[in-house]
Amino acid sequence: MIEFRDVYKNYGQNRALKGISFKAESGDILGFLGPNGAGKSTALNILTGYLSATAGEAYVDGISIFENPVEAKKRIGFLPELPPLYPDMKVGEYLSFVYDLKGCKLPRKQHIKEICEVVKIADVEGRLIKNLSKGYRQRVGIAQALIGNPKVLVFDEPTVGLDPKQIIEIRNLVKLLGKEHTIIISSHVLPEVQQVCSRVVVINEGSIVADEPIETLAEAVSGPRRLIAKICGPEAEVLKTLSAVSAIRSAEVIGKQDADSISYIIESDDRIDARKPLFSALAAKGFPLIGLEGVEMSLEDVFVRLVSKKEERTRGRERKAH
Ligand code: ADP
Repeated sequence: MIEFRDVYKNYGQNRALKGISFKAESGDILGFLGPNGAGKSTALNILTGYLSATAGEAYVDGISIFENPVEAKKRIGFLPELPPLYPDMKVGEYLSFVYDLKGCKLPRKQHIKEICEVVKIADVEGRLIKNLSKGYRQRVGIAQALIGNPKVLVFDEPTVGLDPKQIIEIRNLVKLLGKEHTIIISSHVLPEVQQVCSRVVVINEGSIVADEPIETLAEAVSGPRRLIAKICGPEAEVLKTLSAVSAIRSAEVIGKQDADSISYIIESDDRIDARKPLFSALAAKGFPLIGLEGVEMSLEDVFVRLVSKKEERTRGRERKAH
């Protein structure tokens, strides 16, 4: 459905894409995951015909984006990071304008009405875009991408800048749309990709470092759980107490912030929540626990794990082949 073959993009001296290849099949919700500056927007802008590539090939539904951009573009609906909205237009007017821009042939009124219902903006059709909340504006952005009923939808960081309730609503909408469309969604937020996508392509510094089904990503992030605890009491005795808690795999001092408390990093196995036994054990010995926080895995940690898992699998296959 979508294919990138060895695509390069240079901005002057800056090599933003260093030969990336990936595919998204029909029915995929593909997560395009990577830290800021990784090259996600560049790749999506090439895919949607907004930018040219320095080298490589890209196809939508078997049609070359570089050789036949008009036909390829008809099959893609794009929500850029900054949706192309006209604040002084009313929602309905704007969607009708996009309908004309795209040269859409579907019955105008009915098509726009259906889209407004799917993305839940029917109640604001007569309102000026500038008076809408950010969440509603994002929905209008999604609505314009849906005009013409393209097979492929591309969403660039669709939840950036939204509040938590709006984020959940937009994620649910993306999942719903995934039933009818192939979707590529870029994100630098790991839980977003985990919740919404069926596959993930991880990009870092212009190269693809992993291309995996979502289950593999889940495995990669399901490492040990880590907590940082600030505890009062003598270091040796606190460490002895921590090592006696069966839920705790390891504990190490990471710093002494003040005279009477010490910070420890505490690891437990995946799915084990060490917080309650930790609290009880310290309370029983009279060592006050004055701070406790979970440590989230960074995207970089996830890349390292995905890449090392891939190497493990390759080695496994090589061993079998011999
Ligand atoms: P992401 O979307 O993953 O945050 P981008 O695709 O926006 O990453 O950027 C990839 C790299 O290309 C970055 O180093 C960025 O600074 C650079 N870049 C992006 N757009 C331009 C541009 N128009 N001119 C020059 N460099 C750019």
